[in-house]
Parts: sequence; C-alpha cells; structure tokens
Amino acid sequence: MTFLSLNPNTMSGHSHSLTEFNTLGVAQNCQQLTRLNSYDSIIEFCQAYDDKENSLLVLGGGSNLVLTDDFDGEVIKVESQGVKITEDDDYFYLSVEAGEDWPRFVETLVNQGIGGFENLALIPGTVGASPIQNIGAYGVELEKFCDWIEFYHLSDDTVKQLTAAECQFGYRDSIFKNALKNQTVVLRVGFKLPKQWKPVINYGPLKDFNAQTVTASDIFKRVCEIRQSKLPDPNVIGNVGSFFKNPIVSMTVYQELLKRYPYIVAYSVDNGMKLAAGWLIDQAGLKGHRIENVGVHDKQALVLVNHGGATGKQIIQLASFVAAKVHDTFGVELEVEPRLIGKHGEIEFHG
Ligand SMILES: Cc1cc2nc3c(=O)[nH]c(=O)nc-3n(C[C@H](O)[C@H](O)[C@H](O)COP(=O)(O)OP(=O)(O)OC[C@H]3O[C@@H](n4cnc5c(N)ncnc54)[C@H](O)[C@@H]3O)c2cc1C
Repeated sequence: MTFLSLNPNTMSGHSHSLTEFNTLGVAQNCQQLTRLNSYDSIIEFCQAYDDKENSLLVLGGGSNLVLTDDFDGEVIKVESQGVKITEDDDYFYLSVEAGEDWPRFVETLVNQGIGGFENLALIPGTVGASPIQNIGAYGVELEKFCDWIEFYHLSDDTVKQLTAAECQFGYRDSIFKNALKNQTVVLRVGFKLPKQWKPVINYGPLKDFNAQTVTASDIFKRVCEIRQSKLPDPNVIGNVGSFFKNPIVSMTVYQELLKRYPYIVAYSVDNGMKLAAGWLIDQAGLKGHRIENVGVHDKQALVLVNHGGATGKQIIQLASFVAAKVHDTFGVELEVEPRLIGKHGEIEFHG
C-alpha cells in the first residue's frame, strides 16, 4: 500500500483548515494534511517525505496542542487501528496501533476484564500520543504499564523500539519531548498488564472504595462520572484539559506558602511538594475570568476555554496573564502542559 492511495483524504493548499482537528477549536490552516490509516502507510509516508525534521507536524486527536499560527508545512494525522493481545500465566501483553482512540481502548479493556488503565478513563486522544507526555490521572501514569514504544525515527529514516525504561518518563514528560523531540512518529505502543490486578484508590474521590471488593469496572465508572462532572467537554466548549502542570516546589518554599495560605492544596512527591495549579489560579481570583472570547473555566480553573472564535494567540495571551497573576500572588512559576505549535513548529511559552 502507498500513502498516495489515501488521495481522497489528502488535501493540498495553504488554506486547509485544522479547526476540526484540534479540541480547542482554533481556526488555523496548514499547507497539506494527510490522514494515514495504517502502520504501512505511515512508514511509506515517512520514507518518502523529504523535509522530515523541519516541516512535519504529527497529529493524533489534537487534544494537547495549541495552534498559534497557520502551520507552514505538512500535517499527518495518525489513524492506524488495531489491538493485539497475547498472555501468559502472569500478564496480558498488548501491541496497540498509534491511531487507536485512548478512551475507547481503555473501555474495551475494562469490558474484557483487563484492569490497570481504568484510572485513565476518558482522557481524550490517541494511543500514539499517550507516551509523549506520559498521560496520567487519579494516581496512575501510563509508564506504570508501558512495555515498549515502536516509532519511526525521522532523522535516521529507520523504525526503532525503546523499552519503557529507556523512555525517561516523568511527570507529563518523556524522551519524546526532550532528546527525541520532533524526531519521531510513534507507530505502536506495547503494554504489559499484570493479571493480579491491584486497585489504585488512594486519590481523592476514589478513597471511599473498599480495596477488597472494588472492581476495575467500579473505578472506571467513578472516574468517568467525576470527569464528566468536572471537566468541560471539548465537543461543547473548546479546551485542551489542564492548561498548566502542577508546579513542584521545594519543601522550604512550601513551608513559607503554608504559613501564608494554611489551606494550600499540595501533595508530597520525591523532589518536594506538588502544588495544585487549579487551586493557585482559583485563589488568584481567576476562576471564570474572561478576556473577549477566551476564558478560565468557571468550574475548573486549570482549564482555559475557547468561548467561540478564539485564536491560539488569544489563548496564549490569557495563559500569560494567568501565569503572571499566579506568580505575583504566590511567587510560583506555572508551566504550560499542551504543546504550542507556531508557523514552523513547536514554540516555547514565555509566561
Ligand atoms: C478534556 C481533556 C481532558 C484531558 N485530561 C488529561 C488527563 O487527565 N491527563 C493527561 O495526561 N492528559 C489529559 N489531557 C491531554 C490529552 O488528552 C493527552 O495529552 C493526550 O495524550 C493527547 O493525545 P492526542 O492524540 O490528542 O495528541 P495531540 O494533541 O494530537 O498531540 C500532542 C503531541 O503529541 C504529538 N503526537 C501525537 N501523536 C503522535 C504520534 N503518533 N507520534 C509522535 N508524536 C505524536 C504531537 O505532535 C503533539 O506534540 C486532556 C485533554 C482534554 C481535552
């Protein structure tokens, strides 16, 4: 098969709209968009593409990026499908194509009695994007059950595999955002899920479950309920989920903050204390704050929303305003979570 066989989905011209391909719903265009629906078509495309490192944007579900300009290059949308499951006495081994829809994948696993990822229910996007920022929610991160990642290495023109240990996973971080930034197209992800399932229920609203009787399906349902009640649906109002990472501060800084703000929300982590960015934004008085057609969500201050017709630049202006206000109030730096994509590729956030 060749990617040219996907001609009906290949659209030329600088005016191809990406509005429906990013969950913020900002109206930016690109020169060309190619939708690739199989492992082989992704490889063929990559082999034939001749400006791999400079002008290629890889898109999954578009739920973790902000397009701040028209993209001066080509966009590929990864839509390959397929899940292979094998097992031995102790584990299920899964090999999953990058274009699989993450929420559907998790639901299918839970329905088949394969537990592990129920805490990551309803996170929008594709399986191929899941290792890029090591997705996480309710006390579980992807790295817990990730076995390997297979990817096309654009600078070397080869297919490679990394073990999970080699991916340098961290909090919303991995090698794909650092040493291998913009050099890879993830093709498949391997997972290894123990048959001896253990619930993770030590996080906030999951705490009232009984560890002896709870099932993966119970947790899945509860997580879905909470997310649906707390987070705005991108199909209704454009957003990318959490816009900022929860900042990690030293114990000394935390103790100082605690004196001034006895109710500050924080969690202990290896290298200090992780502060709840949503709480900081809320306390800075910005919940529901609106500047023209962009705003801080009125129920969840960590989420910035497009009230209709917003540009990526307006979203970034609002993000800068929020970060500056939090810095003035608490002396804490906020870092953005989604990738910011400018005319020629990824750009940095400068607060
Ligand atoms: C309502 C909402 C709630 C969310 N909740 C959470 C949450 O609880 N936890 C969490 O961690 N995230 C959350 N997110 C963020 C988002 O869902 C995840 O980051 C998700 O993994 C992004 O997947 P995607 O396919 O949409 O990636 P995209 O937005 O399409 O891409 C994100 C980045 O990954 C790159 N990329 C995508 N696919 C590939 C590929 N195949 N190969 C190489 N690079 C690729 C892109 O170039 C881009 O840099 C949420 C988003 C929304 C809108």
